Amino acid sequence: MSVPTISFPTENLVSIGLKNTESIHYQSSPEDLVQDTLRIGEGVITDTGALAIQTGEFTGRSPKDKFTVRDETTVDSVHWNEFNIAMEDKYFHIIQKKILAYLDNQPELWVRDCFACADPRYRLNLRIISEKPWTNLFAYNMFLRPDEDELENFKADWTILSAPGLKLNAAECGTRQHNAAVVSFKHKMILIAGTGYTGETKKGIFTVLNYILPHDKGVLSMHCSANMGDAGDTAIFFGLSGTGKTTLSADPYRKLIGDDEHGWTEDNIFNFEGGCYAKLIGLNEQKEPEIFHAIRPGAIVENVQFFKGTNRINFDDASITENTRVSYPLHFISNAQEPSIGRIPKNIFFLTCDAFGVLPPISKLSTGQAMYQFISGYTAKVAGTEAGVTEPNPTFSACFGAPFLPLHPGEYARMLGEKLHKHKVNVWLINTGWTGGAYGEGHRIKLSYTRAMITAALNKNLDKVESVTDPIFGVAIPVAAPGVPSDILIPKNTWKDKSAYDEKAKYLAGLFLTNFEKYASGVSEEIISAAPKI
Ligand code: ATP
Ligand code: MN
Repeated sequence: MSVPTISFPTENLVSIGLKNTESIHYQSSPEDLVQDTLRIGEGVITDTGALAIQTGEFTGRSPKDKFTVRDETTVDSVHWNEFNIAMEDKYFHIIQKKILAYLDNQPELWVRDCFACADPRYRLNLRIISEKPWTNLFAYNMFLRPDEDELENFKADWTILSAPGLKLNAAECGTRQHNAAVVSFKHKMILIAGTGYTGETKKGIFTVLNYILPHDKGVLSMHCSANMGDAGDTAIFFGLSGTGKTTLSADPYRKLIGDDEHGWTEDNIFNFEGGCYAKLIGLNEQKEPEIFHAIRPGAIVENVQFFKGTNRINFDDASITENTRVSYPLHFISNAQEPSIGRIPKNIFFLTCDAFGVLPPISKLSTGQAMYQFISGYTAKVAGTEAGVTEPNPTFSACFGAPFLPLHPGEYARMLGEKLHKHKVNVWLINTGWTGGAYGEGHRIKLSYTRAMITAALNKNLDKVESVTDPIFGVAIPVAAPGVPSDILIPKNTWKDKSAYDEKAKYLAGLFLTNFEKYASGVSEEIISAAPKI
């Protein structure tokens, strides 16, 4: 193999303020990044050849420490709320200076040029400058990988500086505590300090795209996974964390377009990323073979524990975190679609993990109901692992992704509504959560059943099946689906105590109504009339 002759972007690094460009690794191969990680003593190779690392103090995103610079670019366009926390530009400059000085003092640095958006019309060039080699490998896995030609004269649209080891002085830096992720739309830069959680870089760029695409390009950006059947029929799966986007989009009979972030244009949908970031907790080879087999050389496994005396991952060990993860390039899934572009979706699935056990495992939505569910963005998970917590924790997160949406949720909802009216799309609500009772009484619905229901919907096997209308939520529940026991389709039938079901269903409906109050004045009658009826 010939040695690539990629020119090193010294000038560009100097122009952003880095002085020490001597000990920089640029565009290293995954093998070299693994070796660098081992050399600095921050990784271990698992029995299947993946790199295992620990992200340190933070094993998840820290939404309270994510800031957006409020300046003339953003003041009127960003929807300032608990997820879009304003920071003054002067603090951006203070933090930037600190990070650059800190990075300049490191014995070595890693730089990667890559890009986001599989559709070349929307391509966003990224440069990631990091303290850690494994942050660089994460970027290689998760973003799109330019070839040598594309690296010639590469110009970064956006730059990310990552300094996990730098603890900020909150008073001086205008932050809440020692860590922060700061997005400046004016300077086109993301600053990450005090946290090594890799997902901050991924979701930082997602946040940027959730601004640029709808605001400047008329493209709907979505927190969803996507796959495609042999006939080129696309399906997308919206859902909050843990509802099944990654799990359910990895389907041996369909090509994977992407597991988390997509755009919907006039004529296609496309993945923003070039890799997947899958949960490992409870992973099982039989139930999720594609993800299991992606844990191989090149993949990064985060915050897992091994079985004693081995390098074999104990997938059930949550002692570091519940949020154990693996990142890998899309082509580690055997049937990946690359370039990751698909046609306008034929089917949309809204995934919710309803730990109240109230919502049906599959139901079909009218356009009004679809909009109502999209704006509501409901899921309810089991509240962590705290002792004595038995009541599910309901979350309403607009557009199934409020933490990543810089614009008002109404903007994304309006765009989706237009698309639903224009294209003939089936919209389904899938409860991947509890059945047979709420958490504590019932159990999570079998993954194989959820997969069978989705397959039935995709194969049009539900089109001729009779349905019943849920008396409270109004959705259409098919009474039969191939491969699924019919008695689990109507949730009330799975509960021993029917009046307990009614009570819980009314309780959940009440939560929907209360949550929707803040949107009611801004939406059409079609959407309002799709609200649950108590
Ligand atoms: P994130 O946005 O955080 O990446 P996600 O929507 O991609 O979240 P997944 O990684 O797919 O969520 O997580 C779903 C988890 O739930 C997996 O660990 C999966 O094994 C588990 N699970 C259990 N039962 C089901 C089911 N019936 N359907 C889907 N997932 C299930
Ligand atoms: Mn996922």
